[in-house]
Amino acid sequence: MYYFDPHIHMVSRVTDDYETLAKMGCVGMSEPAFWAGFDRGSVDGFRDYFRQLTEFEPKRASWYRVQHYTWLCINAKEAENVSLSREVIAMIPEFLDRPGVLGIGEIGLNKNTKNEATVFCEHLDLAAKTDEQILIHTPHLEDKYQGTRMILDMLCDHSRINHSRVLVDHVEEHTIRAVLDEGFWAGMTLYPVSKCTPERAVDMIEMYGPERLLVNSAGDWGPSKPTAVPDFILAMRLRGHSESLIRRIVYENPLRFFSQSRNFEFTPPEVDQPASL
Ligand SMILES: [Zn+2]
Repeated sequence: MYYFDPHIHMVSRVTDDYETLAKMGCVGMSEPAFWAGFDRGSVDGFRDYFRQLTEFEPKRASWYRVQHYTWLCINAKEAENVSLSREVIAMIPEFLDRPGVLGIGEIGLNKNTKNEATVFCEHLDLAAKTDEQILIHTPHLEDKYQGTRMILDMLCDHSRINHSRVLVDHVEEHTIRAVLDEGFWAGMTLYPVSKCTPERAVDMIEMYGPERLLVNSAGDWGPSKPTAVPDFILAMRLRGHSESLIRRIVYENPLRFFSQSRNFEFTPPEVDQPASL
């Protein structure tokens, strides 16, 4: 089955991963900007990173016929440096008209601090001003419930954010309902050691249905599995779900969400017609 991974950090993966993903049916992916493992020292460090995301990664993906898209921001871990964050936010528009740039992300909270909230809201202002879509990171484990609540409150308090153009990622059983109830899209991240397993993602599909739900691998530097979406496809089949329901979640839903971005141009893979006998 063809699928789309809506959240994966390919800068941290080797070229062999692109080949493996292509063999497993991945035809498209989107890569949000994130933390590099260290705090970057200047706005030029981000400018170079955004060039990597908009120039080199799409090229590397294309070697395996995978279509690569991206999101730009300064992530929550670096938001404690508010003055650098403001410089980055002011620089982002240089890249917003590049092919494959889908919007602002992954913004969000990490430790739910005041500075993180300030930088989050300034990203929202940029997205509203430039009419961009938004991809959101919700915090890990002990900070997740409170952080998700804070994020949803800031989104709902903003007068110019269209909820159907916002994807809130890393939802779990205790945060998914609040995200969907407000009209946002929700992403389940399949991680081997935290967040959500393929089986728990299937549970949530069974509870909430496929509307506005996505699954992703969030493959990155740490313990993560770039082929987690195929694991989810198998888990759905083993539970007896139809191919059309699976395709809706791993292929049609991402396309529906991303199609709201002006720079999203996707060429669907050719589908074989049965040979006539
Ligand atoms: Zn991420």
